[in-house]
Amino acid sequence: MEKYDVAIIGGGIGGLMAAYRLKQNNPEIKIVITERGNNLEKRFCPAGKQKGCIHCKTCSITSGYAGAGAFSDGKFNLGTAYGGTLGEELGDDKANEYIDEVDKILNKYCTSGIPQIYRSNDELKLKCIQNNLRLLDMNVKHLGTDNNYITMQNLINALGEQGVEMKAFYDCEKVEKSGEGYILHYAGEKRLEAKNIIIATGRGGANFVAGFCRDFGVHMRSNHVDIGVRVEMKDIIWREFSDRIYEPKILYKTKTFEDRCRMFCFNKGGLVSAENNHGIITANGHSYAEADKKTDNCNFAILSSIRFTEPFNQPTEYAESISRLANMIGNGSVLVQRFGDLVRGRRTNDHRLGQNTVTPTLKATAGDISLVLPHRILTNIIETIYALDKVAPGTANDDTLLYGCESKYYSIRPEFKNNKFELIDGVYIIGDGSGICRGLSQSGAMGIYVADCISK
Ligand SMILES: Cc1cc2nc3c(=O)[nH]c(=O)nc-3n(C[C@H](O)[C@H](O)[C@H](O)COP(=O)(O)OP(=O)(O)OC[C@H]3O[C@@H](n4cnc5c(N)ncnc54)[C@H](O)[C@@H]3O)c2cc1C
Repeated sequence: MEKYDVAIIGGGIGGLMAAYRLKQNNPEIKIVITERGNNLEKRFCPAGKQKGCIHCKTCSITSGYAGAGAFSDGKFNLGTAYGGTLGEELGDDKANEYIDEVDKILNKYCTSGIPQIYRSNDELKLKCIQNNLRLLDMNVKHLGTDNNYITMQNLINALGEQGVEMKAFYDCEKVEKSGEGYILHYAGEKRLEAKNIIIATGRGGANFVAGFCRDFGVHMRSNHVDIGVRVEMKDIIWREFSDRIYEPKILYKTKTFEDRCRMFCFNKGGLVSAENNHGIITANGHSYAEADKKTDNCNFAILSSIRFTEPFNQPTEYAESISRLANMIGNGSVLVQRFGDLVRGRRTNDHRLGQNTVTPTLKATAGDISLVLPHRILTNIIETIYALDKVAPGTANDDTLLYGCESKYYSIRPEFKNNKFELIDGVYIIGDGSGICRGLSQSGAMGIYVADCISK
């Protein structure tokens, strides 16, 4: 059986950055990154405008080297204001230092153009405050989908040249204690041995983390879940914001329920995409940097945050069952509905969709999202759309499209043994899968931080 000093489970930005720093600290260290999905250059999603999701066994959008962010448009948050709570865990100064390190590494491998930096803007912030909206404020670096992809491929190639082993289609099912280290069991009866393990399995690895915590008696805290829709409209409606700050991230406290709703993951000139999360198809969005790949539309998520209290402790399953219901009504696909149809209480059909002034960029099933989303979530989303319409008039147009569902799970948050994010002796957890991060910069920063802890 092959033996390693460190086995990293998951080849997203967290795992890649951890490997990079471990090698920087000790070039002799023997590292393997095992990944459930494919090598980056072979990741391909057959779904598109003409063809819906065909339910691949491993989703190329969410799984594979470079992780969930591989086809994202590479918005890199230059701070801790959002994208996770690493600042709370390490202190803002230290977290920012590590974010800065990630930024420098990405700059080194970013060979296809100079990324643009968007700075925060007081005028827009004020406009939002005057309308009961809170614009989250941070400088953001934008690589663009293509540039982000090339940067990640360059980084992966560099790791390979430094002797980091990579094993694609290695889906880790179980970890077993063995002497001083661990045996990792993969699907297909593959195994390997390692002294240390870094779990970097992202959001898609929630079940693996839950299984690990059960096996080793690590306590898990129930966290919150965000459920909602992807919203698409003409790009011009949000241009005042996107031209100045690139990505508006806005919070709203809804009137009826006083719940927190957030608008985020904005894609200027972008495309709505479908994601396959273990057979459940959900909506997402991305955009390309090149002008010839831009669409006339922009898209963003509006999600309602739910924090469950006792005795209920299955928030992920709750969100999944809502998305499954959308897939059931949508004949195995995401649903799409015009905002005008939603507020009039009628389904969208192909005829009305065909006449819509906003052309959908994802082939989804025209239907009725109100048959899927619980009343509270739906009310929150509708109220948020009307609130956003005050700062970007046109958002609440009849022809605005809502794709259902989109959800973000942050439900599993294991309890760490110490401030090294160690779960049990020699096993660490980083990135989105730790319940701490929600973005590229903090996931990468956490990877470097844990690598430093292991090296010490
Ligand atoms: C469409 C999209 C757009 C996004 N855009 C942005 C953006 O612009 N800016 C931003 O900051 N963030 C963005 N995000 C979020 C960002 O991608 C994530 O926060 C980030 O990728 C988390 O990194 P990670 O390394 O923790 O996990 P991931 O990137 O999710 O990587 C985890 C990897 O682990 C693998 N894995 C899971 N379980 C196992 C297992 N049991 N065995 C082996 N391998 C396993 C998965 O296949 C996956 O490749 C976006 C996400 C999506 C889906």
